[in-house]
Amino acid sequence: MKNRVKRYILPEQDVPTQWYNIVADMKTKPMLPLNPATKQPLTAADLYPLFARELADQEMNEKDAFIDIPDEVRELYKNYRCTPLVRAYELEEALGTPAHIYFKNESVSPIGSHKINSAIPQAYYCKKEGITNITTETGAGQWGAALSYAASAFDLELAVYMVKISYEQKPYRRSIMQTFGAQVIPSPSMSTKAGRKVLTNTPNSSGSLGIAISEAVELAMNTENCKYTLGSVLNHVTLHQTVIGLEAIKQMEMTGEYPDVVIGCFGGGSNFGGISFPFMRNNIKNGYKTRFVAAEPASCPKLTKGVFQYDFGDEAGYTPLLPMFTLGHNFSPANIHAGGLRYHGAGVIASQLLKDKMMEAVDIPQLESFEAGCLFARAEGIVPAPESNHAIAAAIREANACKESGEKKVILFNLSGHGLIDMASYDRYLTGDLTNHFMSDDDIAKNIEKIEKFV
Ligand SMILES: *Cc1c(COP(=O)(O)O)cnc(C)c1O
Repeated sequence: MKNRVKRYILPEQDVPTQWYNIVADMKTKPMLPLNPATKQPLTAADLYPLFARELADQEMNEKDAFIDIPDEVRELYKNYRCTPLVRAYELEEALGTPAHIYFKNESVSPIGSHKINSAIPQAYYCKKEGITNITTETGAGQWGAALSYAASAFDLELAVYMVKISYEQKPYRRSIMQTFGAQVIPSPSMSTKAGRKVLTNTPNSSGSLGIAISEAVELAMNTENCKYTLGSVLNHVTLHQTVIGLEAIKQMEMTGEYPDVVIGCFGGGSNFGGISFPFMRNNIKNGYKTRFVAAEPASCPKLTKGVFQYDFGDEAGYTPLLPMFTLGHNFSPANIHAGGLRYHGAGVIASQLLKDKMMEAVDIPQLESFEAGCLFARAEGIVPAPESNHAIAAAIREANACKESGEKKVILFNLSGHGLIDMASYDRYLTGDLTNHFMSDDDIAKNIEKIEKFV
């Protein structure tokens, strides 16, 4: 065996000093969010009641391609950044592919996923504005866990609405949040109007991110000195995640190669955008031809089978109307184990990019995702998060296509998190207890019909 380089490591001083805002470079800007009552476009100021001001400003920023990372945030990034870029030699060998496969390892963060990249700045900006309390929702618990840490770092009180199915499937994520001092409430709950309404209609509801968002928004609106925070979907969240791709660009330079295809799993789009957008800048500005592939679960196929339309981000309809690929805000996805991918809509930026064919999407059945995750674990020694398994499965499809064609493509995917707190899900896969969930075209059509036509 040659003296080959496995991991490409950047020193601490290479932690990015700015985030990349792709909106500034997009030829077709995303359509603006709308006030659901008046149908008028919203400004950043309209978002101030709900979000910290600087976050609202970032959300609406169309002109600055690069936005400074505050020193306080960068210092906390140094707890785990820069993260390694890894050449997956063993996976390549297991597949017998001529492709070169790299992954950016965000699972090394102390909380286990990329979510912390946005949790730190969100908590920081709230603190800076004198906020004392924050609320949020969490699916699998990754966002809640990351924000619990960030809230404790900045001395904020945090209430987390956790999707009930995950609260039951992933009790240790709840323990992590509580360890950091957060209050965790299973959603739907009786503590909000939105939660009570769902429980009245569907007493056995296992919850959804859409419902949990409604509850967290309602609590923030009714609590003094309290802001709401979101772990995905929104532009400012994806902005923060671009530290992933900005580091990866430098690390790919160290390898002497450049990716032909960049892959991320897709819940609301933040880790996908985080790894992709800095590379996509080269497509927009310099005529590069890299492909960008979002991998979503077949049970929640908003990118591959949804419609591009204005829709709400939450179940109760409290949020602004957002132009997105959606399956309808009332859509309740199957109880798959990739809790972080169970969301009805896609972020606004990724939705516009998909519409403009700047990126692609594939949908991955649950069993294929776990099969890919187990193959990766055995090859590379890391048990991936069930969400990340979707990116791995998409990377394996690309690598297998290279095996057919003999092409030596360079494949880069984001390992968004590890699965060490998701072993109950692996247990069920390994004992043959998991099944695939597909939405029939009929079900999708029926669901989409229910979305109100606003514009
Ligand atoms: C939340 C989560 C996702 C999905 O969210 P995105 O905003 O689409 O990145 C993916 N992977 C992991 C590990 C997560 O925790």
